[in-house]
Amino acid sequence: MNEMRYQLDLLKAMNQKLSEKERMYRLLCETSDAAYLYYSFAKNEFTTLGKWSDFFEFNITDVRELANLFEMVDEAYVMPLRDVLFLEKNGKDQASVECMQKNKKIWLQFNCHVIYENGQPTDKLISVKNITKRKAQNEELLYMAYYDSMTGLYNRNYFVSQLGEFVRRAKENNNIVSLIMIDIDDFKNVRDGMGMVVGDELIQLFGNFLKEFTKENVIVSHMNSDVFGIAIYDPAGESTVDNIIKVIQKRNKEPYYLVDGQSLSITVSIGVAEFPEAATSTLDLINCAEIVMIKAKDKARNSVHYFDAPVLNEFLHAVEIENKLKEAVHEQNFILYFQPQYYSGSKDLRGVEVLLRWRDNDGRIISPATFIPIAERNGTIIPIGQWVVEESIKTYARWKAQYGVRFVLSINISALQYNEADFVDTLISTIKKYNVEPAEIELEITESVLIDDFESVIEKLKSLRDYGIKISLDDFGTGFSSLSYLKQLPINTLKIDKSFIDTVMQDSATRVITESLINMVKALGLESIAEGVEEEQQYKYLHAIGCDMIQGYLMGKPMPPEDLECIIAGL
Ligand code: C2E
Ligand code: CA
Ligand code: CA
Repeated sequence: MNEMRYQLDLLKAMNQKLSEKERMYRLLCETSDAAYLYYSFAKNEFTTLGKWSDFFEFNITDVRELANLFEMVDEAYVMPLRDVLFLEKNGKDQASVECMQKNKKIWLQFNCHVIYENGQPTDKLISVKNITKRKAQNEELLYMAYYDSMTGLYNRNYFVSQLGEFVRRAKENNNIVSLIMIDIDDFKNVRDGMGMVVGDELIQLFGNFLKEFTKENVIVSHMNSDVFGIAIYDPAGESTVDNIIKVIQKRNKEPYYLVDGQSLSITVSIGVAEFPEAATSTLDLINCAEIVMIKAKDKARNSVHYFDAPVLNEFLHAVEIENKLKEAVHEQNFILYFQPQYYSGSKDLRGVEVLLRWRDNDGRIISPATFIPIAERNGTIIPIGQWVVEESIKTYARWKAQYGVRFVLSINISALQYNEADFVDTLISTIKKYNVEPAEIELEITESVLIDDFESVIEKLKSLRDYGIKISLDDFGTGFSSLSYLKQLPINTLKIDKSFIDTVMQDSATRVITESLINMVKALGLESIAEGVEEEQQYKYLHAIGCDMIQGYLMGKPMPPEDLECIIAGL
């Protein structure tokens, strides 16, 4: 009897323990935010636990009812989910999958755990969690990593990586990738004049319009500020460079309407480069497209420039020259030539223009017309220009001392040199160092020095002229020549550009302009000089209409100092 009682007490105690454990597990399940599905292989039975009813409107007790789960997820996730839920089929013990619900932006994560005994599955627990929030946060992070928040277009980094993918595929399949770079003309004026908000709105409007070109093989990016990029893999059909540009230009004929009702019209400058014609790497391709886009902008607004063979050659040439130029500054491979200028009446020597020559390491002479613009772009014109000033004044001082001559030394000065803060001081100290008269030095400047800061340039020119240095306005008639500002310029000499002289004998309109120019120069109390005079007839005509001075091949080409010395010695 006692034995019986003992057994009963034991059973009671065990039951109590069991229900305690059960209560504990139940509590764990109910307080967790997951739904659970338990499966017993021995019983072939499912039990739902935890938040099941919060997640699903159906219960699962039988294996066939799992179909309910497959039905509720997006089609793309059915197979992966099946693999996870029937994990035991491939002998694994744990796996998980993230699935999106059909027609809902809800993400569910299914986790499956199988327990084996002696190699046989005995229990399976499937947990389901709602991970929509985490996914959204990830997506936002991804969005920020890939997209430009202002336009919703790809940002530069992601665009470059996708373009890289296009290029990789094109290499593999012998295909083409076109890159179109688009820059809104005068955007700075819009932003400065109408404000940042309007500027941003315009970028959004234009970006929205460009977004329409997006396709499987076409990606669009807001690269930076007012620059957009479109890359096309295997251009064909609607998605060709020509077609896209046509659509853009057609759209830009209509204004863009801002929210406040204002309308804005824009034009764009476009550069196009293609893989593999222009470049064989992604970054080179971008560089090429950017180079021609800038070219399009420099040349004329609202235009398209293609990176084709001539541009490539020009570019390679410029790069080669740029590199050599840097060496040349070190190695002092420059020499000076001098071209005489004469009074047209007396035919006496008035002065010489200093013209720079560059002898590269192979002994070839490279024209300043080729390298000066490059030196101006990369800044090497500053040390080069300083050398020209010092060397030419030194040479002139020697001639003065040796031959007792006196004339004007005309030195070409680039806008960049002129903008250097110590330009005036350095020049004056060089003049003092070699003990020459300020009036013997003339600076040839072009209208480009006046573009940036008219007022401060005028001040500098005045201080130079007050010191006694002459100023000559070079290439007159080629720049943004306006007769109206001539009066304000503290100049001594006006140099009529060679292009006038070239046609003056054939074209009566040019003659009218040249004559009125010379009369005006006289009225302003300045001197006139004609450059590029090659023929006797031109000289006679210029003399007859009162041009003070003449420079050109007719009287003397630019020559090395030894040759000029022969002329000076004979004076
Ligand atoms: P520029 O100042 O207009 O110089 C006149 C150019 O016309 C020179 O070319 C000269 O050789 C050329 N020329 C003179 N007479 C005739 C002629 O009768 N017929 C023809 N066909 N050409 C003539 P160059 O020496 O090639 O210089 C080209 C340009 O390079 C110069 O144009 C000037 O803008 C720039 N340059 C030359 N030396 C210097 C320099 O030391 N510093 C700076 N900043 N620029 C320079
Ligand atoms: Ca000149
Ligand atoms: Ca000139």
